[in-house]
Amino acid sequence: MSLSKRNALVTGSTSGIGLAIARALAKEGANVVINGMGDAAAIETERASIEKDFGVKAFYNGADMMKPAEIGAMVKDAQGRLGSLDILVNNAGIQYVAPIEDFPVEKWDAIIAINLSAAFHAIRAAVPGMKAAKWGRIVSTASAHSLVASPFKSAYVSAKHGIAGLTKTVALELATFGVTANCISPGYVWTPLVERQIPDTMKARNLTKEQVINDVILAAQPTKEFVTADQVASLAVYLCSDAAAQITGANLSIDGGWTAG
Ligand code: NAD
Repeated sequence: MSLSKRNALVTGSTSGIGLAIARALAKEGANVVINGMGDAAAIETERASIEKDFGVKAFYNGADMMKPAEIGAMVKDAQGRLGSLDILVNNAGIQYVAPIEDFPVEKWDAIIAINLSAAFHAIRAAVPGMKAAKWGRIVSTASAHSLVASPFKSAYVSAKHGIAGLTKTVALELATFGVTANCISPGYVWTPLVERQIPDTMKARNLTKEQVINDVILAAQPTKEFVTADQVASLAVYLCSDAAAQITGANLSIDGGWTAG
């Protein structure tokens, strides 16, 4: 197990990619703090199953990624409960799809807060401990939309391009401290986030559900297949390993060839 004795916090890990990453880190022996929204009983079931399946410690912290004070407090809570925070995965994210002239201001603000600013607040709080330990891993879930744009996703594309820039900056600042910072840029992964944007995309582009899946979503990916959450999680685990010590400041695509074209 490559990550035994490591302690990790994964934001937005009650669902989808974040949950897969939290479970994959735990499988490698890391203790984890999970975070995110959702039904309390379902979250407790997930937390308990991480402990049971992998024999690690797992805690839940319900910090709202819109609220900087709660993010800082969650990092402290993770350090307190686990003894240190060695791995930070910035993953929480939301999406909203609308033409720019109709894009609700509050949706712009929420996407920038959750998908971009939350990573800044968490990194800012986690870095002093990682620097002192001379070891740390910061992994952020960016997106193919950190590299290319799609229409009707102005806030999401802006936030994800921001994650790529934040990652590069932090990597340079921490390069001599044994702390790496990288982002992963998946193409389309079948999760609730993708499922939820289908009705709005149908409306914005005047298409049926099948047309959105085949002509918009999978059309972007040359393999014509969804990426899986477990594939993204495997890459995150690798970036957290000692083998990846010299990978820093990178934006790694896992997108079925989307951004090659
Ligand atoms: P998801 O909806 O399954 O999971 C999102 C997670 O973020 C959930 O745990 C949710 O509770 C949490 N979250 C949302 N708002 C929050 C808030 N205010 N405070 C705390 N937690 C909050 O979506 P997903 O597809 O697994 O997305 C995870 C990440 O992957 C996001 O950053 C997303 O942009 C990115 N991503 C997804 C895809 C895809 O195709 N699904 C592709 C590229 C990148």
